Amino acid sequence: MNDRQETVVVIGGGVIGTMCAWYLHRAGQTVTLVDREAFGAACSHGNCGYVSPSHILPLPQPGAISTTLKAMLGRNSPLSIKPRFSPSLWSWLWNFSRRCNREDMLEAATGRHCLLQSSKQLYQQLISEQKIDCEWQERGILFVFNSTSEFEEYTHTNEMLSDRFGVTATPYDGQKLVDLEPALKPGLGGAWHYEGDCHLRPDKFLSQMRKQLESRGVEIVEHFSVNNFYSEQGRARAVSDGQRVLEADRFVVATGALTPFLNTHLGCQIPIQPGKGYSLTMPQPKRGPTYPMIFEEHRVAITPMQSKYRIGSTMEFAGYDTKINRKRLQLLRTSAAHYLHEPECEPIEEEWYGWRPMTWDGKPFIDRSPAMKNVWVAAGHNMLGLSMATGTGKLIQELMLEEPPHLDPAHYSISRIKKK
Ligand SMILES: Cc1cc2nc3c(=O)[nH]c(=O)nc-3n(C[C@H](O)[C@H](O)[C@H](O)COP(=O)(O)OP(=O)(O)OC[C@H]3O[C@@H](n4cnc5c(N)ncnc54)[C@H](O)[C@@H]3O)c2cc1C
Repeated sequence: MNDRQETVVVIGGGVIGTMCAWYLHRAGQTVTLVDREAFGAACSHGNCGYVSPSHILPLPQPGAISTTLKAMLGRNSPLSIKPRFSPSLWSWLWNFSRRCNREDMLEAATGRHCLLQSSKQLYQQLISEQKIDCEWQERGILFVFNSTSEFEEYTHTNEMLSDRFGVTATPYDGQKLVDLEPALKPGLGGAWHYEGDCHLRPDKFLSQMRKQLESRGVEIVEHFSVNNFYSEQGRARAVSDGQRVLEADRFVVATGALTPFLNTHLGCQIPIQPGKGYSLTMPQPKRGPTYPMIFEEHRVAITPMQSKYRIGSTMEFAGYDTKINRKRLQLLRTSAAHYLHEPECEPIEEEWYGWRPMTWDGKPFIDRSPAMKNVWVAAGHNMLGLSMATGTGKLIQELMLEEPPHLDPAHYSISRIKKK
């Protein structure tokens, strides 16, 4: 515990900013959290709710280039890239492609693994200590394969993850899978069950955390879009939205997919692209699943929460596009119908999209801004922001208050932008 009562402004009220605010407040800082819109309304709102330490491997892997190229040509692929003139997108794709090799994949996997493990433990601690009512469940996640060959092929990945990271799944083939999860149709290839994975209802988690923060004196300011830093001699003094000014001793930039808009102030080119995903939320179907599951070949995820049921995923690189693409929503439905007896239930309560903050190596940036010593970046959590939020918040608190970090921060450094 640090006894300095200094002020911190956290910019961004998604799950990452929220958990930074939580740990900084716990360490004795006076925290204000600001968001350009409503608290918790962006990518952290309608995601699939997985807290999944199984998701060790990043997207850039050997073979990912051919998958990406196929995806660019295919109309119904879960991955789509809108062809357009965008130097930042092409530079991002170029950097992504350079990391599609085993060595870089394993290096990124190591950084992801320790953040994922720490985050799960911190969630368990937080939820039980503070009695956070967020529909937390520890049932694991099923990686479901349509084809037997893909199911069997996954044996190699499972062995590698088990040998290197000690994370192992239990295989269920044919009939055994239907016995475990009768909501699935017969005739699928099989599934791998990651028993250590958990899930929660993300919007409920955030509203509960908001209550926790506000009841302890953390101020949450909505509709404050930071567009300027006032700095002197390499230190930020205040941030502004063009009208109001907020002064503080320290700042955290947790602005998710929108982080590149602050790059000039941060003194670096944080390489984040918005990876647009969708979800549909509805009541649980009568014959709905009890396990969360990912349909691996279709890249669609299903989350049975206690009070809701969600179908989510797909990845569109279409820039900061705010339209709901109905074809992508239909893709979620047809994919779910391929695997489940009763894939959905009326009424659809929410059609949603979010911009995932995608980095080219699959790791977030958790580091000090090169331009301002008292400004820290916590952004770029890709498809795992919920799963990595608690570990990120704790690490930011430790780095900012110069305490021994519980994880090696080198994995998440900004200096890696220039390397390679
Ligand atoms: C379909 C889908 C399913 C997903 N499923 C999962 C899952 O199951 N598990 C998992 O771990 N992850 C999942 N993710 C990814 C996860 O949702 C993101 O990684 C995570 O929400 C990112 O959190 P964040 O706080 O960085 O960003 P956000 O939640 O986007 O928050 C950033 C906030 O910063 C604010 N902001 C931006 N710029 C400014 C500014 N200049 N001034 C003030 N405020 C600003 C924004 O308004 C926003 O509220 C999923 C994503 C999608 C799209």
